[in-house]
Amino acid sequence: MKRTYFDHAATTPTRPEVLETMLPFFNQQYGNASSLHQEGQAAAQAIERARSQLAALIGASSKEIIFTSGGTESDNTALKGTGVISKKKHLIVSAIEHHAVLFTAKAMEKMGYTLTVLPVDSIGKVDPDSVKKAIQPDTFLISVMLANNEIGTIQPIREISSIAREAGVLMHTDAVQVVGNYPVNVEELGCDMLSLSAHKFYGPKGVGALYVRKGTPIVAWMDGGEQEHGKRSGTYNTPGIVGAGKAAELAMNEMQERITSVKKLRDYLLTELPKRVEDIRINGSLTDRLPNNIHLSVRYVEGESLLLYLDDAGFAVSTGSACSSHSLKISHVLQAIGLDAVASQGSLRITLGQENSREDIDRFLDVLPKVVGDLRAISPLFKSKKQEAR
Ligand SMILES: *Cc1c(COP(=O)(O)O)cnc(C)c1O
Repeated sequence: MKRTYFDHAATTPTRPEVLETMLPFFNQQYGNASSLHQEGQAAAQAIERARSQLAALIGASSKEIIFTSGGTESDNTALKGTGVISKKKHLIVSAIEHHAVLFTAKAMEKMGYTLTVLPVDSIGKVDPDSVKKAIQPDTFLISVMLANNEIGTIQPIREISSIAREAGVLMHTDAVQVVGNYPVNVEELGCDMLSLSAHKFYGPKGVGALYVRKGTPIVAWMDGGEQEHGKRSGTYNTPGIVGAGKAAELAMNEMQERITSVKKLRDYLLTELPKRVEDIRINGSLTDRLPNNIHLSVRYVEGESLLLYLDDAGFAVSTGSACSSHSLKISHVLQAIGLDAVASQGSLRITLGQENSREDIDRFLDVLPKVVGDLRAISPLFKSKKQEAR
């Protein structure tokens, strides 16, 4: 059966051009980039090239890029690396952050920091005024994501950054969902730190970066060698870094194409879905939203069952976020936007990518009503709803 992948927020396939660029760095140009001999220096040069490719993608300078093992490490570094050397002890995060930020902040709370978790409105937005009110004399950091990985809502980061700057507080944004898929410019955003991850934009897994604005007080929180100007220890993952650079270059060249193609399919899906399935709702913002994201609630069905039935029919989708899909707990994001239990249970995330086509969407539109119909036929909630209506 043909498989159709609609889960690009969880990860994307590594592009063949990216893989090809990476391969020689496993067994031909395998030198350690910290070594002074020719093998080492060849690797170091390739890394510097990748660094400038990534910097160019986000409007930064090369010196401001620290390579990491991915989005999770970048987020940890931003929070812990600034927290460790700050005399101040209070930090602010939003309630819908990825666990890489939220759980890091909660871990820091256990270590003696104080934490404010900001609420969001019903479309998942942080009110910049609430950020302003949450700032205390002891605040050293604000971390609000650029776009949410479940519902796709884009946050007013520019406003929040300028509030932070005025108060003399550092500003970090987790832009893992955005970089490579939608334009990002650190000067326009005004943030001090920004996290990105290559596997979310057709690069390899296990490599990412943290942008750190020049002059930002940050230290390594992982001890070891002195790589990355002492800010991130560990032998350079040359193949991964080179792949991330190539993925950044492709993203730069294809940015408009990527946005136009997924947005067209997404908007088509958005208009057709309500015509084909009753009792659904679209969650999140209709305007400030990643162009490839659809998040819906199918009332009176259970999200996990929906996912598995669709999987059987050839479609890879997600319910909630991939990280929390081992558990049947309602996602913290859906809780934060105040979704009722029935709507949360039947939540479905479809995240499109460059390789999806109109035919994929048409087949999905054929399959979904059948699957939902089958599941509702055995749903006690749906039966009682029908009885009430009579
Ligand atoms: C995927 C993701 C992460 C984690 O990145 P990894 O590279 O998988 O560690 C962090 N934040 C957001 C918003 C993400 O979507």
